[in-house]
Amino acid sequence: AGAPLGSSVIPIVNKLQDIVVQLGSQSTIQLPQVAVVGNQSSGKSSVLEALVGRDFLPRGNEICTRRPLLLQLIQTKPRSDGGSDDEWGEFLHQGSKRFHDFSEIRREIEAETNRVVGDNKGVSDQQIRLKIFSPNVVDITLVDLPGITKVPVGDQPTDIEARIRTMILSYIKNPACLILAVTPANSDLANSDALQIAGNADPDGHRTIGVITKLDIMDRGTDARNHLLGKTIPLRLGYVGVVNRSQEDILLNRSIKDALIAEEKFFLSRPAYNGLTDRLGVPQLAKKLNQILVQHIKALLPNLKSRISNALCATAKEYESYGHITESRAGQGALLLNFLTKYCEAYSSTLEGKSKEMSTS
Ligand code: GDP
Ligand code: MG
Repeated sequence: AGAPLGSSVIPIVNKLQDIVVQLGSQSTIQLPQVAVVGNQSSGKSSVLEALVGRDFLPRGNEICTRRPLLLQLIQTKPRSDGGSDDEWGEFLHQGSKRFHDFSEIRREIEAETNRVVGDNKGVSDQQIRLKIFSPNVVDITLVDLPGITKVPVGDQPTDIEARIRTMILSYIKNPACLILAVTPANSDLANSDALQIAGNADPDGHRTIGVITKLDIMDRGTDARNHLLGKTIPLRLGYVGVVNRSQEDILLNRSIKDALIAEEKFFLSRPAYNGLTDRLGVPQLAKKLNQILVQHIKALLPNLKSRISNALCATAKEYESYGHITESRAGQGALLLNFLTKYCEAYSSTLEGKSKEMSTS
């Protein structure tokens, strides 16, 4: 099975994060958001879940994602005693309650969706916010969005399509948002709502990756080779084709790991996909995203570099203020005196601070 999202970026981000902390800054390296867009049941939630490598999102053949889910991945320090690492979720609406069981997380997403929009297919732009704490992730935010639907069902208003489009755009028009535009292989790529809405938000295609799902259930005798090669609709960052778990796999509780193995087998068994390995499979999608994240990190480096040289300058100045190192006794005495004076100043200002604190409290 392949490496999940972030795995190749984790060491780089960690090192940089350490540097940022040493510069005495509270801010951390900000990675862009990743949002999934596409029609209902195109496989958006399945793709996100596979990227994270854990089962926790509601998926199904009717509308499941009915409120935007803001999923913040937060890296925790690995356990120093080498024991098995703790991973858990926390919902904003549940305070600090820790969910260690990921299927309980899925049930809570469903329950919280129903709390706000009822259980009759209603949709809302009110976010559900979930944090996943794990040593195996990078600090990144993923957004699972309701799919575009055309015909209102259940409690949905007549203008459901316009409302969902507005909601999706409010996320993906952010220039710091990477867009995974998801289109199932068994529908017409030229009619893809995902590519259309992504094109609205990102006309130059600098931050849109095309994802083609359901390669396993295409009409017999057809394949997605031309789509993947960008011959149908060109896309600057290109396409990745994936095979996620089917509804039957979900009912049979098939694991992500088994699904990744099955995906790889599928591609190997189809001659149409020969020579396209860099465009096939969830691990390749993760790799592509990682490459984009590395580009993003590189863009942050000049700023980091200037902060480091500023800090270096300040330290050099401080060092100089202590006077020059000297061999002569008199010089050494002066240096010592200088240090002592500075020490006394620092000491008395600390005391003053303390007494001020005491008198005000
Ligand atoms: P979303 O509405 O876009 O979030 O789509 P989901 O991830 O909920 O998936 C919708 C349905 O399609 C579910 O029943 C999935 O099991 C199924 N599905 C998703 N991707 C694939 C795929 O690549 N192959 C097959 N056979 N089924 C898929
Ligand atoms: Mg979904």
